[in-house]
Amino acid sequence: MSQTVVLQLTLQTIEKLKQHYQANLKKQAPAHTVFSAAVQGTTITAYHSGKVLFQGKNAALEAKKWEHYNLLPTDSKKTSTSKTKAPIGTLPKDFATRSIIGSDEVGNGSYFGPLIVCAAYVERKNIDVLVKMGVKDSKMLTDTKIQQLAIQIAELIPYQELVVTPEKYNQVQPTYNANHMKAVLHNQAINLLLKKIAPKQPKSILIDQFTTPKSYFRYIQNEKQQITKDLYFITKGEQYHIAVAAASILARAKFLAILQQYSQELGITIPSGAGSKSDQIAAKILEEGGLSLLKKYAKLHFANTQKAQALVKKL
Ligand code: MN
Repeated sequence: MSQTVVLQLTLQTIEKLKQHYQANLKKQAPAHTVFSAAVQGTTITAYHSGKVLFQGKNAALEAKKWEHYNLLPTDSKKTSTSKTKAPIGTLPKDFATRSIIGSDEVGNGSYFGPLIVCAAYVERKNIDVLVKMGVKDSKMLTDTKIQQLAIQIAELIPYQELVVTPEKYNQVQPTYNANHMKAVLHNQAINLLLKKIAPKQPKSILIDQFTTPKSYFRYIQNEKQQITKDLYFITKGEQYHIAVAAASILARAKFLAILQQYSQELGITIPSGAGSKSDQIAAKILEEGGLSLLKKYAKLHFANTQKAQALVKKL
């Protein structure tokens, strides 16, 4: 019986596979593939996207050798005998002490303000310094503390921030959903940071997970430079490496500074979040300058826009 098993692997793992199947490689790798090999009635095709296809009568057996590297949960029907779950969301044991780039975003859930992605490089020797500084999950810190820490962090480690203003966000949003935008931004920030720190290289890269790895790789598939080597995703990433916590604090501090700047420009306190306070402030901005003013400060596709418009009509 012919079988097909699909695994999503890092390009580093794919290199391992390539070496393993060295003697069975097809001479010419088809387009978009890293390699193609044929072994005992099974064809193995590895794509640049990280997707690896096992096809043929021993596909499940062959794929099983690599299943523990899989970034996606496997369909148990396809892998027949396997009962073990793929280690999605798991990291190597020594991960917290590695020199890594951590990447996180801020502003995604706030009606007012930009979307900010920040990637930060934390070398092993700086981990303790950051811990002593008080760097931790930004949700556990006050705004004032975040702003103080950000100054200290910025002096200590290399990082790369990318800011998408609401105006830009509103232009792009109809075609790129928020996750698509985030994926492209994380990839870009990491890429720029890798260039900044060269010739140093991180041992790993960790993105605070906001979508499945599969979707992430799909979103960045048209990017010129796709960072996939040693890349990991995990939710609550700041709990697994302080680089994510540092990136998050830097991004949050920038976000707060921009909201303060908006408040000065508009002469009214601009809130974070997407609650009723945001509706009320948006209504005031609409009264003053309509949508053409509001679009400079708020993410218009949020439901807050309609609520604010309704408030204006009532007046
Ligand atoms: Mn996050």
